[in-house]
Amino acid sequence: MPSRGPRLCGCGHRVPPGARCACERKRAAERKARFDKTRPNSSARGYDRGWEKARRVFLKTHPVCRRCGARATVVDHIKPHKGDRSVFWDRKNWQPLCTPCHSGAKQREERRNMERT
Ligand SMILES: [Zn+2]
Ligand SMILES: [Zn+2]
Repeated sequence: MPSRGPRLCGCGHRVPPGARCACERKRAAERKARFDKTRPNSSARGYDRGWEKARRVFLKTHPVCRRCGARATVVDHIKPHKGDRSVFWDRKNWQPLCTPCHSGAKQREERRNMERT
């Protein structure tokens, strides 16, 4: 039988039976905060480390923006992948763009979508 008295936490506090010490609650909160910070990251949208590497390789072999000829910094999906992994990873669906062309293309696309709906 475990004792029913308060236990002694590693931090030196006495903790009532069934309760958690303040230091344990704090640690748990910190763990949760760290987890929350990393959770809604880019990998949720399909942009994981594999993508980062594939993007670099693609830009090395396609260094020029397809629209204006400037240095390409963005791999754009010609057809929006909308989270579809097979569309996302289809290299025939990739094009090198510079940042201004990329944001311009996306804005036009969003306008088109708005007109359709
Ligand atoms: Zn403690
Ligand atoms: Zn461009």
